[in-house]
Amino acid sequence: MMPLQYEGDVYRPPSEASSLILQVTIGCSHNQCTFCGMYKKKKFRIRNLEELKQDIEKSSRFIPHAGRVFLADGNALTIPSDQLLSILEYLNRAFPKLERVSLYGNPQDLLEKSVKELVELKNNKLGIVYLGLETGSASVLKDIKKGVTPEDIILGAEKAKEAGLPLSITILNGLGGLEATEEHARETAQVLNIIDPEYLGLLSLMPVPGTVIHRWFEQGRLKALNPWQLLEEIKMMVEDLELTHCIFRANHASNYLPMKAVLSRDREALLSELKRVLARGKPGSLKSDLFRGL
Ligand code: SF4
Repeated sequence: MMPLQYEGDVYRPPSEASSLILQVTIGCSHNQCTFCGMYKKKKFRIRNLEELKQDIEKSSRFIPHAGRVFLADGNALTIPSDQLLSILEYLNRAFPKLERVSLYGNPQDLLEKSVKELVELKNNKLGIVYLGLETGSASVLKDIKKGVTPEDIILGAEKAKEAGLPLSITILNGLGGLEATEEHARETAQVLNIIDPEYLGLLSLMPVPGTVIHRWFEQGRLKALNPWQLLEEIKMMVEDLELTHCIFRANHASNYLPMKAVLSRDREALLSELKRVLARGKPGSLKSDLFRGL
């Protein structure tokens, strides 16, 4: 649901399409990832609580029965816990049917919060954190300037686990280029196996003009994976995944082959499908580039 007012472009997870969107931060506090052009034009700031209360108040008049709210922009989890708690309390008062509040977070944001704070946020209906992990490879994380190591990611995710806060993790297929494809796939699987997330989303890298990674591909510093190499990378990652019960989705507009599974339950079926499509090698099995987008 479109917000009443919004500064700049709206980015939200596909699964929040029908949620009320409330812009609590402008931009991303990190804003340095080499592949990301989403918030480059925005200077990061946390919106004033009084201003937000007015937005919530107005929204509740138009959509009094809202059950889900997504807190935008980039990494709303960076908001200090006491302020985030005030926003949640206000939302709970304004929307009596509120079921779940969600937001984007960085591993660093989880590290900066205590388990006690995360529990308190959860008790006030923070129901899911969309965590941009991108890769579990230490060297790819460094190259993309994510600002964290695999160890940081694991520590942050463990805090969320301990607090009982579900994580929806995003991985970017093709992020390390052809040079790092195996490392990206296998080391990402290793990190995911430790975190054992509830949800896992896979997007395929589509270099955005103006970003550092786009320039690296143009200059030949990184070699882009073709659609078959992207699928091969997914296959390697899935082969190594050992997850308890994870809803896996690769049905984003950027993906060449839409996939849905529960992992690891459906791992063999997913691998068979990937092997079948790779063995046939028919471009018709894949989404046309005309229909891909971010
Ligand atoms: S990928 Fe996420 S953390 Fe990195 S700059 Fe973009 S919004 Fe910020």
